[in-house]
Parts: sequence; structure tokens; C-alpha cells
Amino acid sequence: MTDLILTFLGTGAGSPSRSRNVTSVGLQWVQRGSLWLFDCGEATQHQVLRSSLRLSRLEHIYITHLHGDHVFGLPGLLASRSLVKDITTPVTIFGPPGLEEWLRTTLRLTHTGIGYPLTVQTVTEGLIYEDDTRQVFCRRLAHRVESFGYAAVEKPRSGAFDAAKALALGVPPGPLFGRLKAGETLTLPGGQVVEGRTLIAPPRPGRKVVICGDTGATPAVAGLARGADVLVHEATFLTEQADRAKESGHSTAAGAAAAAREAGVGTLILTHISPRYESDSSSRLPELLAEAQAIFPNTLLAEDFRTYGVG
Ligand SMILES: [Zn+2]
Ligand SMILES: [Zn+2]
Repeated sequence: MTDLILTFLGTGAGSPSRSRNVTSVGLQWVQRGSLWLFDCGEATQHQVLRSSLRLSRLEHIYITHLHGDHVFGLPGLLASRSLVKDITTPVTIFGPPGLEEWLRTTLRLTHTGIGYPLTVQTVTEGLIYEDDTRQVFCRRLAHRVESFGYAAVEKPRSGAFDAAKALALGVPPGPLFGRLKAGETLTLPGGQVVEGRTLIAPPRPGRKVVICGDTGATPAVAGLARGADVLVHEATFLTEQADRAKESGHSTAAGAAAAAREAGVGTLILTHISPRYESDSSSRLPELLAEAQAIFPNTLLAEDFRTYGVG
């Protein structure tokens, strides 16, 4: 099982339906014990409670844009996290200009204290976060309000040590293994020389996950998502409503697929699904998916609580 997992918490556009909450996606870095959220529509905290995700692990929240269906869940989720005893780890929120003013004002006027360090960082394009194993890049997209896409990029991972080969060469298990793993060259008691670098596989490329906010067609998506393992992209309309998509700064499923093809991604996951295409008795989502798959075959449709392992 991979240690990088997407969990869709809300996959609807505009307002919630019985089957889809408004937008939010979790990205778990399992080995690091860290959880990132991308957008936080109303009631995202309820969705977290119904999933296997834990707010104690929450480290970052990336907000794509300031439309309500992407942010109204933020104050409640942050406040609830503060009420849980023993959670003191910091949370950093990244987002467009205006986010900090809205959030701090809401917390202040509702007398909501947050009992852990909370930082809000206003983003511009480019590299916005980096640690020892990860980077996050951000690009401005094309929506009615300023909207961003985020690329979470893992740095190259070191290659695996071939313990079986070391044993076959006569290296006794123990501290010598560690020295060979560090790339040292050793001379064994019998006089044989063993080079550590010949026992280590080449570095594996890091994984790349791109999550876009609401957007119409723009070359920025392919620029940001070039070579990504996964692209999460909105698909608010069918092609028959391409004019409405254009007017409202949204994408059709076919438009999302064209961006995925241009970027050369591994998998496209469509989200931000309009309630107009789905009722209790009928669904036009097979059409939506088919329109995308005609252009980019490896396309999936997101559903609330569905998980996707990356790489
Ligand atoms: Zn939206
Ligand atoms: Zn929007």
C-alpha cells in the first residue's frame, strides 16, 4: 500500500447534495504522519469524522479561492480542532489575498480562540512551501475571482539497498550494512572490496499531485501539472453547456481532459460535480465521464470518501 493517499471529502459544486458535500480533498503523507487539506467547504469537519482522517494530524490547508463552497468549513473545523484536548501542533493555511482578513475577522467576531499556533500565508505564484522531502508550487488559474492550483511535489527518494546481494558477496549482516548503505567502500576480512554504491538502486523520482481550484481553460493548468502522477480538476459542465462554462469561469469534462492530455499526467480525477447532473432517480455522470475519457482515457470520477493511492 502506498503512503501517499488522496481522500475526497467533498466532490460537489456550489451547494451540497445528498451524495456530495462541497469541495475538500485530503492528502495523507502516511509515513510522516501528516495530513494536508485542499479547500474546506462547509461541513468538511463532518466529512473528516466519517473518514479515517484525523484532525490531530492536520498540518497544512491549501485554499484555492474565496468562493464559499471552498472555504465556509474553515472556521468550524479549526475551532473544533482547538476543542480536542492535547492537540497542540501548529496548522498553516495557504491561500489567496483576503483569506486571512476573512478568517481572523470571523474568529474574532465569534469569540473563537484557537489553542494551537495558526498561521495564514498569502500565496503568489511559484514555490510556496519546502521541507526536507516535499515542495509545493502554486499557479494562478482563470476563474471569476483569483483562483490557484497547487502542485505537491515529492523530492527524489533514495534507492533501496540490495541486502540479498550484499549477503551473497559475503558481507555479514550488522553495522557493515549501514556503512555500505551510506555509500562507503569496504574491504572485507578476506580482502574482497565491496563498493556500497553498487548495492544501492538509483534514486526513484518523487511523486507529484496537482489539485486545481475552479478554472476555465488556461495553459496554466498544463504548466503546473506537467508530468504529474495525478491531476485533480474540476468538471462542472458537460460539453453541451460549454458556453455557460466559459461565462462562469468553469471547465467542461472535455476541457479538463484536454488539459490532462497536454500536461501528460498519469491519472485525471474529475471533481466539483454539479448537482444538475445527478438526482436520486437519474444521473448523467456516465456521459460526463465518457466525454473526458474520449480525450483522456485514464480519467476517474471522484466520489465522496473515495480514496486514491498515488504511486
Ligand atoms: Zn466552486
Ligand atoms: Zn469558484
